[in-house]
Amino acid sequence: MNSISVIGTGYVGLVSGTCLAEFGMDVTCMDVDKSKIDMLNTLKLPIYEPELEDLVEKNFKAGRLHFTCDIVEAVEHANAVFIAVGTPPQEDGSADMKHVLAAVRSVAEHMENYTVIVDKSTVPMGTGRLVEKVVRETLEQRGVDIPFDVVSNPEFLREGSAVKDFKHPDRIVIGCSSDRAREVMQSIYRVLYINNHPFIFTDIETAELIKYASNAFLATKIAYINEMSALCEASGANVQDVARAMGLDGRIGKYFLHAGPGYGGSCFPKDTKALLSISRDYGCESGIVRAVIEANAQQKLRMFNKISQAMGGVAGKTVAVLGLAFKPETDDMREASSVVIIREILKNGGNVRAFDPIAMENARSYVFNDDDIYYATNEYDAVKGADAVVIVTEWNQFRNLDLRKIRAAMNGRFFFDLRNIYERDYVEDFDYAYSGVGR
Ligand code: NAD
Repeated sequence: MNSISVIGTGYVGLVSGTCLAEFGMDVTCMDVDKSKIDMLNTLKLPIYEPELEDLVEKNFKAGRLHFTCDIVEAVEHANAVFIAVGTPPQEDGSADMKHVLAAVRSVAEHMENYTVIVDKSTVPMGTGRLVEKVVRETLEQRGVDIPFDVVSNPEFLREGSAVKDFKHPDRIVIGCSSDRAREVMQSIYRVLYINNHPFIFTDIETAELIKYASNAFLATKIAYINEMSALCEASGANVQDVARAMGLDGRIGKYFLHAGPGYGGSCFPKDTKALLSISRDYGCESGIVRAVIEANAQQKLRMFNKISQAMGGVAGKTVAVLGLAFKPETDDMREASSVVIIREILKNGGNVRAFDPIAMENARSYVFNDDDIYYATNEYDAVKGADAVVIVTEWNQFRNLDLRKIRAAMNGRFFFDLRNIYERDYVEDFDYAYSGVGR
């Protein structure tokens, strides 16, 4: 049986490790963050992700899933080590590889037998080769000759549906150059293989680029429809009808064509910046990706300008922000559009009362403290005395708000639906001044 270790217990590492344990593998998840490991060993989750808690508990109690800070314990018996640490953007947009390289070094310092080192983190082309070099050098320093292979196995899961995505992927991409490593990977993913999920076997560089190319393409679709939304607002067209008609064209496809306040999260913003940086390094700068990054930043600011213009400025006014996470079903605040919008409101002298079902703890810890904004106990508390309500994240519980109750609690009547989850006529019937995106 495969004995697997996963280095890095964040969104990707914890979900991957848990799902691989669910596939029957013996999995040890290792992280340098002791507080995370302590939580997990008492069956508390450091992140919010649907379905994950039950799966962690089930596999932990079955003895297939272990959590540790000890790299020796994680690596000594593993025949495959998955690297799932962060690759955050540096000042210039390029991916910061220090966590990946530190993790790889620590693996090489302690591995004892043939090991497949599987990179799951999103990394620039050439990283696989660099990892090989680092492992080889570290083994030489140890004076040992242990066989190993490096594999690129980028992850495509989406936060909010990560467990489902891992268990039912559209495809599994495996970049490797050795038959032995390929066999190990096939046996790890046997459950998916026999269920006919498509496997793409490539060389390492290709696998590395597939991840960036996919994310940048999806970001492009979003940026494109958002740009169309501005044109719709200027011309009186309706972006939802435009998107629907476009999406029915099989060559275009209906996904990622929802106009909104711009993409955020831990992947699209950093991966587009990294791809731009990589393309520059190779002397073939991607003008498309550059434009996408700029358009997305503009869209976030455009949302604030729209709010401010409609309200005649925000100074001294109170804005209720519903939804802080970059998308529903996650507590991830990284690059969330709410951050830009709230920051602009505060900068321009407005006050913010915010509510999010899950992400307020992260927002409070990493972005705005209690002196900056008021964290409400629920959506109805958030709107008390507000001049405007702004829906930034389309959590299900915001789709059926008691509009009469909200209007009665508010001071003003502005209703900004940045996710287009309400019909204008319906909202206006409750005496709101409604504003959606691109319609
Ligand atoms: P994360 O920040 O949630 O988690 C990374 C974890 O790695 C942290 O817990 C950190 O403590 C740990 N870590 C850092 N250095 C370490 C080391 N040397 N040894 C052990 N642990 C270490 O990151 P994430 O969102 O899970 O992303 C991980 C990678 O996967 C990134 O490259 C990301 O681009 C990619 N990815 C993320 C998603 C997503 O939806 N979050 C999806 C696909 C791919």
